[in-house]
Amino acid sequence: MKIIVSNIQRFCLQDGPGIRTIVFFKGCNLNCPWCSNPENINPNMESYRENNEINTYGYEISLEDLEKEILKDQLYYKSGGGVTFSGGECLLQFEKIEELLKRLKENRINICIETALSVPQKYVDIAVKYVDEFIIDIKILDEDNINKINGNVQLYLNNIQEVFKNNKKVIFRIPLVPNYILTDKNMKKIIEFIEQYKPSKVELFKIHRLGEKKYKTLGKIMPEFEEVNDYIINEIEEKIKSIDVDVEYIKI
Ligand code: SF4
Repeated sequence: MKIIVSNIQRFCLQDGPGIRTIVFFKGCNLNCPWCSNPENINPNMESYRENNEINTYGYEISLEDLEKEILKDQLYYKSGGGVTFSGGECLLQFEKIEELLKRLKENRINICIETALSVPQKYVDIAVKYVDEFIIDIKILDEDNINKINGNVQLYLNNIQEVFKNNKKVIFRIPLVPNYILTDKNMKKIIEFIEQYKPSKVELFKIHRLGEKKYKTLGKIMPEFEEVNDYIINEIEEKIKSIDVDVEYIKI
C-alpha cells in the first residue's frame, strides 16, 4: 500500500520530546487561508514549474519503506525522542498506517501527532491506541465562522473528548490569526475550552509568510494578514496563566 508524503525531516527538536523525525503527509480536509504548508492540502502529488524545471510536491512511499526511513534515526530516539506525524492532516492516513503504528509501539518508539482533529472519529479511535502525545490546534470554536476553514466544531469537540477520555498528553496550539481566531467571541470560547480541558501546555504562534513561494508555485496568492502585536500576545498569555495553564509563545 502506497501513501503520499511531502517530506521527512530529521533531527528536529520541536513537535514532541527529544530528537524527532517528522513525517509530513499530503492531504488536509481543512482550508485555512493562513496555511504555511499549502502543498500539503491536496492529497495527490502536484507538479509545478520552477526555473524552467518541472518539480513535484509529494512522493509515494510504501509502508515498509516509510518504516525503514523512520527507523534510520532509531539511535536518536534514545534521547526520549521519536516520530511525529504531521501534514496536512496526518490523521486522514491513520487507517493506512495502522500496521506501522503498531510496529513502532512494539519497538517502544514515542509517537506524536500534530493535528487539527477535525476528522471522522474512526481516525481518532486508531490514534488513541498508539499515539503518546497529541499536539492539537485550536482554531475556530465559533459555529458562525467555522465554515471559513471548512471545519466542524461539533466533530472537533467530540474528538477532543475522545482524546482526553483516553488520558493522553495534550498540547494545544493556537495560531494567532486576526479576524479568524482572534475575534472576541472566538477567544472567549477558546479560553473557556482551555479551562475545561486543562492541557499540559498551550503554545501560541504568529502566522508567517515563509510559505509564500509555495503558494506562487501552486498558482495561488497567499492572503495578507495584519501583524499581531505584543500587547495582544501578552493579554492572551495572561488570560491562560490566570486559569492555571502553562503557556508559551513560540517563534516559528
Ligand atoms: S489544518 Fe493545517 S495543514 Fe490543514 S489547511 Fe489548516 S493550517 Fe494547513
